[in-house]
Amino acid sequence: METIKLAEKYKDEMIRTRRTIHMNPELSNKEFDTTALIKEKMAEFGIETVDIGMKTGVIGIIRGGKPGKTIGIREDIDALPMPEETGLPFASKNEGVCHSCGHDIHTTTLIYVGKILNEIKDELCGNVMLIFQPAEEGGGGASQMAAHKYYEVMRPDMYIGLHVSPAIPVGSIGVKYGASGGSADTFNITVTGVGGHGAHPENFVSPVTIAAYLITQMETILARENDPRKPAVLTVGSIHGGTKGNIVPDQVVMQGTMRTLDAQLRTDMKAALKRIVEGCCATMRGKGVLEWESDGVPVLYNDETVTQCIYDAAAKVIGEDHIVIGKQPSMGSEDFSVFFDYGPGAQFSLGTQTPGKPETAYGIHNARNVFDEDCLPVGVAVIVQAARDFLK
Ligand SMILES: [Zn+2]
Ligand SMILES: [Zn+2]
Repeated sequence: METIKLAEKYKDEMIRTRRTIHMNPELSNKEFDTTALIKEKMAEFGIETVDIGMKTGVIGIIRGGKPGKTIGIREDIDALPMPEETGLPFASKNEGVCHSCGHDIHTTTLIYVGKILNEIKDELCGNVMLIFQPAEEGGGGASQMAAHKYYEVMRPDMYIGLHVSPAIPVGSIGVKYGASGGSADTFNITVTGVGGHGAHPENFVSPVTIAAYLITQMETILARENDPRKPAVLTVGSIHGGTKGNIVPDQVVMQGTMRTLDAQLRTDMKAALKRIVEGCCATMRGKGVLEWESDGVPVLYNDETVTQCIYDAAAKVIGEDHIVIGKQPSMGSEDFSVFFDYGPGAQFSLGTQTPGKPETAYGIHNARNVFDEDCLPVGVAVIVQAARDFLK
């Protein structure tokens, strides 16, 4: 049967499932009910699940009728710490938590991709790994799955997945060849001096002055070291030190984010930042220590071949006039990229905007954004078609 028809058949069921997940959003690493619901659905459909020792998240396995390659289909399942303000009858029941990044739609899509691929598994040459990843919004869910060696269950030859996009009309998808999302690394800098009475600079080393100077020095990495054709961001978002105007503190701490679209640049900038933090502080008689948080993610680089596979599948399912080709990458990050260290992959955008309805175009991470549920069979069909084509 035509893939879009296979997907349309379950549209009502998809909407019901999506609304259940939407009403019960859970924060990163706490997706217990969502995980239980996914497992329930997998059992109901007769899909095998594998425990890799994680508290949340699920891995489902579908073994095709004939031998062949393995496709990994990955979606994230967590919600955000913010109240929902859509006024929908199925709005979040968990105070202060909501699915404003559309991961409820992602989860539902993957559940029904599993259902359909399982129904047609006899025609598949190869296997399907359904990767329901926890903690995309923080908590390093993708890195956790890698640390738990999900790939020892079965090693995907390619990875695909989607993310909702309120910028694209429902019924269409977006693809972007090459770099699509930035690497993202959080850094902490501790500047240590010698505190004392503000009246006696001869007796102290001010970490406040050092920190102020250091921030301007850090920015020379962007202006005076990087290749200007390669975009990068270095933002200090928080700085704390001191309690009163005439007391010089011992320490100032700051935190920031570094983003790039290039793996080598990411490595180079990390080294440059360390050199400047240590060198600048030492020059001014202080001590600077740079530390990186462990949940940094690499550049989301969409493999050309995998992206083409998605494009071709979408052309069959929704037609080429419903495919938007992205020109500009985003400096936003997406930890799907962690999986790309284990094989080529690509993520596409699933349009969720209803033309003429501004509430569907506010954007993700907006408490009032409404996602058009007509996107569900579209997302499912594109992925199922891509899987069918890859496992032909
Ligand atoms: Zn998000
Ligand atoms: Zn997201």
